[in-house]
Amino acid sequence: MSHSDDIRNTLEQIHLIQTQLNDLNGSLRRSPLLMKAQEGNIQKQKANLAQINETYQKLHAEAKQKELEVAANDLALAKRKTQLQESKSNKEFQALQLQIKADEAARSVLDDEALEAIEKAEQYAVNIPTAEAELKKACELYETTKKKFAEDKPQIEAKIIHFQQLLESEEVKLPRDFQEIYNRLVRSVGGNEALAVVENQKYCGGCNHQIPINSLAQILQKKPITCSSCARLLYVPKDFVFDKG
Ligand SMILES: [Zn+2]
Repeated sequence: MSHSDDIRNTLEQIHLIQTQLNDLNGSLRRSPLLMKAQEGNIQKQKANLAQINETYQKLHAEAKQKELEVAANDLALAKRKTQLQESKSNKEFQALQLQIKADEAARSVLDDEALEAIEKAEQYAVNIPTAEAELKKACELYETTKKKFAEDKPQIEAKIIHFQQLLESEEVKLPRDFQEIYNRLVRSVGGNEALAVVENQKYCGGCNHQIPINSLAQILQKKPITCSSCARLLYVPKDFVFDKG
């Protein structure tokens, strides 16, 4: 194995480890973000349920009020019927009769209104179990994510430590001129963006920019070459065939 192969292998290893570290750090960041969004949904479902309950209570109170009005009307009607029996003059009798007729008409309207109000409240009540189920679902989703993250987190953290140690043991293998460029890139763009493989014999795997033949030749001569478009430090794949044409 030539020195060039050593550098190539090391860069490839570093790139692989950096990609894995990036994925692991990503999953550590994503779960809390997901939990925050799911918590937000719980609050939304709680507010929705409270709103539905409030509306139902209002409709229920309206129905009760109508029932009270019907009862009051019935009471007034009964009173007038007694008065009618006890009426002392024709004039009073006729006046009471008219009043009773009006009360009976009002009774019929009130009855309809009371029935309608009860029906409206009952129909609306079906929204409550639906909203309760939505809230329950949101809570369960959050708990599942929380539980899974609590289980996964120590494993992810252990993997990160493992890969970081592996990374350090690879990084020290790089020649000084490579290290300087690589370290600068890691600091400025992050480890995952520091390296790119040459794809299809001549394209930067990071940004798809075409690499000049000269640069490819220099890479094979163990020179640290960066992509002129995205600045990633380039390396060739194991099966790379240099095509001078
Ligand atoms: Zn590039």
